[in-house]
Amino acid sequence: MDDYLLDLGKRPWLGALAESAGIPVPPNLERRRSPWRERELTRRSVAIWSTPESEALEPVVRTCLDNGAEVSLDQRSAASETLESLAETRGTALSRYATDGTPAGNFDALVLDATEFAATGDLDRLYDLFQPKLEDLTDNGRVIILGRPPEGAGSPEVAAVQRGLGGFVKSLAKELGAYGSSVHLVRVDEGSAERLDGPLSFLLTPRSSYVSGQSLRVSARASDAGTLKERRQTLEGQTAMVTGAARGIGASIADTLSREGARVLCVDLPASEHLEAVARRVGGEAMALDITEGRAPDAVVDRAEREGGIDILVHNAGITRDRTLANMRRSSWRDSLNVNLEAPLALTEALERGEALNNGGRIICISSVTGIAGNRGQTNYSTGKAGLIGWVGRMAERVGHRGITVNAVAPGFIETEMTRQMPAAIREVARRMNVFRQAGRPDDVAEAVAYLATPFAQGISGDVLRVCGGAWLGE
Ligand code: NAP
Repeated sequence: MDDYLLDLGKRPWLGALAESAGIPVPPNLERRRSPWRERELTRRSVAIWSTPESEALEPVVRTCLDNGAEVSLDQRSAASETLESLAETRGTALSRYATDGTPAGNFDALVLDATEFAATGDLDRLYDLFQPKLEDLTDNGRVIILGRPPEGAGSPEVAAVQRGLGGFVKSLAKELGAYGSSVHLVRVDEGSAERLDGPLSFLLTPRSSYVSGQSLRVSARASDAGTLKERRQTLEGQTAMVTGAARGIGASIADTLSREGARVLCVDLPASEHLEAVARRVGGEAMALDITEGRAPDAVVDRAEREGGIDILVHNAGITRDRTLANMRRSSWRDSLNVNLEAPLALTEALERGEALNNGGRIICISSVTGIAGNRGQTNYSTGKAGLIGWVGRMAERVGHRGITVNAVAPGFIETEMTRQMPAAIREVARRMNVFRQAGRPDDVAEAVAYLATPFAQGISGDVLRVCGGAWLGE
């Protein structure tokens, strides 16, 4: 069913009429989709608050300039010669404002480096810096805060301060969602700031338009897999395997990985009508296979070996068999766990044992917000999807020394065949239960997967990225 409220928002006079009648109209999210090699922030303005002592300062400014943004920095930080020459080389503007003042004008993004925040008094800067500037933030804007992981903090007070940043981000995301703007926290481990370019290039740009209120952790968990120059080549020459690729989110992931240059092996059930067509469209190959079959692990290893190994493995195939536990058949419980959890584990184990996962590779599991928050009628599905999250955390440690990252993407409500099966009234409520008051699209999830698949995401491993429009549900 079409989203009639979203249609209202696209016609200004109808939107205004609806708003005046008290009907909340969803914002139009900017969803410009472009390959990773393109500069995404051209003519966008970014205000950055940092300190010259912070190891994050240079990577943050460099990422913004690299993406074509005009950067405003406070006088003290901007004085660095390296940054000045960086701007000159990139041909972009780097302006200054008084260290104790606020930058003048409208901004597309506000970035606060809070990695050095250690005392509760530092939290006042959240108010003092953002409060006066929020009205100058453009629609579809971004607020990004850089912090440290509270675990392992030097003192309980530092842990409190760093955890406090998370509360701020989640609440501000709920306030800015009506304008299509999003708010994020990037927690960077000490010594890992050089890996900030990827998360920032994702979160600052329209690639992440349906992501809000999230925190990502940048770490050195996965060993380095290449120089920046090599990383620019994104997915050229890489082989991806995507399960459940015949339709919905899986088909969109296949499209997006292929846009980035990967050759995509599209796996789906033998009976699937669209599998061949999707594989043809992306210039990849179809592999008709039920991932729960006993022969499936050997079949994927065999295929992977013939391809020279798999670089990107996306466990996307999933099913729902919804019933309250009291009314659920055992077969629905089993089928759900089998497809959603056991098959991804078995396929990966087999590929790893067969040495068919290449060094520097990527494993990405499509989990669900339901696996984080739980949902009535989905005990089976939530168990499997939460299980995936547990698995990626531990698996990331196991394969990190080979430069392989393992992550989960947890979508909220996305318009696909799966959600079309829901009763209309429940579907309508589920669509609105997020800060953007609208459902996500398959390509919103696919952009997040593509980001995690690129070499830009080397610093993200064992993490969960929610693509849920800042859903009201869950942590
Ligand atoms: P979908 O439209 O139902 O597509 C799933 C695909 O997986 C279908 O092509 C399906 O084949 C295939 N598949 C199912 N069982 C399989 C098996 N045993 N072996 C091989 N392929 C199999 O679902 P979707 O909405 O795109 O969801 C994709 C993933 O995102 C799933 O893991 C889902 O749980 C997750 N997710 C979706 C949402 C959402 O709102 N849509 C939210 C959170 C998470 P058939 O068509 O032949 O059945």
